[in-house]
Amino acid sequence: MVRRNIEARGVPIRSVKWILISHAHFDHVGAVAALARASGAEVAAGAGDVAALARGIQPGATNYPPVGYPPVHVDRAIHDGDHLSLGGLTMTAIATPGHTPGCTSWSVRVTEKGRPLTVLFPCSVTVAGNRLVGNKAYPGIVADYRRSLARLGAAKADVVLPAHPESADVIGRAKRGALVDPALLGRIVAQARIDFDIELKRQEARAGA
Ligand code: ZN
Repeated sequence: MVRRNIEARGVPIRSVKWILISHAHFDHVGAVAALARASGAEVAAGAGDVAALARGIQPGATNYPPVGYPPVHVDRAIHDGDHLSLGGLTMTAIATPGHTPGCTSWSVRVTEKGRPLTVLFPCSVTVAGNRLVGNKAYPGIVADYRRSLARLGAAKADVVLPAHPESADVIGRAKRGALVDPALLGRIVAQARIDFDIELKRQEARAGA
């Protein structure tokens, strides 16, 4: 489906040079191995997710059984502030760990009809089955979530394109011509903070029970 959509835009798959990964969960990287093979593109991913990607499994401890995917070879391990430039655009990596240790948001400056805009592809900030209490495989998970929520909360973005587009009604916004919304990121992060605190309390209560 990803390949079909790329080609439907008139972009031959072999002209794809980079595949930028948000994080090592099956619903975000299940197609990467096949896409990398078909395109010959190099794969970039947050350094903290490289080992999980090589194994084809989610990192850290979750309250659901492991969900595998075809292992992904990472050509470039990405750290906070790294840049990738191609075709006059520069993608900047913002390390936003928590959801996974290597969860990486990507930011790019574009010019749309003469107007400069910052487009942000935020990595997921939901708890989504992660163990927040007693996660031996990822002991710093709660602190990482809090730092990443603070970081994203302070970030500026005119256009937000989350990895789960339905979470911000991206399709509806695109249809309405309402993708530019500098207040959207703040609203997403505020809600994520509320959801995170509720889930942390729930898990702490269960662990203490
Ligand atoms: Zn995820």
